[in-house]
Amino acid sequence: MGVYTELLEYAYTYGDARRLYLNVTNRCTNRCSFCVRYRTEGLGGAVLWGGNEPDLELLKAAVRAQGPFDEFREFVWCGYGEPTFRLGLIRQAASWLRRAGAKIRLNTNGHACLIHGRDVFVELSQAVEEVSVSLNAPNYQRYAELCRPDPATFPASPAAAANQMPAWEAMLDFLCRAPLYFESVQASVVGFALTKDEIESSRLLARSLGVTQFRVR
Ligand code: SF4
Repeated sequence: MGVYTELLEYAYTYGDARRLYLNVTNRCTNRCSFCVRYRTEGLGGAVLWGGNEPDLELLKAAVRAQGPFDEFREFVWCGYGEPTFRLGLIRQAASWLRRAGAKIRLNTNGHACLIHGRDVFVELSQAVEEVSVSLNAPNYQRYAELCRPDPATFPASPAAAANQMPAWEAMLDFLCRAPLYFESVQASVVGFALTKDEIESSRLLARSLGVTQFRVR
């Protein structure tokens, strides 16, 4: 078991014992119909839903509780939610996590700039080497159906208010700019949520944005 406050566990392994997932928020800008958090409260024996978000000291304690620090080869910011809500923590933890030479990956829905109401690429790129962006759909209509963005979670900026598709466009903007800032960029979709044609269209969309790594998860 990991270190937790109330229920939420902040660090856990799932499969590869040398990859540690960092679960630091349950907040999200989407309400995806396929999201695993609507079906189970955790993965790999870890409870990932509920409780308080960690600060840096709680996160460090949770990481140390998972095994010898130097043996982890990869840390993955994930969350039962969108981890870039915790941009400050991601930045605070970067130098500590990198001490043993591990890579840092971010699994994101691509809404970081939308969430913070400003361009956060430079800040994120200083704290993360690799990103996996949830493209999830080949077009806005399917994205709206599947991911059900929640406007209440966006800042009330004039730009967001004027845009009928802020979540979709923010994700596409993040995906196409990401290769300029990160060593590795992957786009992903959820296989069971799309048809084969939609998966192929999504792959082509990612490629048209300059992202050739594509994963059906
Ligand atoms: S973006 Fe991720 S965490 Fe948020 S609802 Fe969708 S699948 Fe769940």
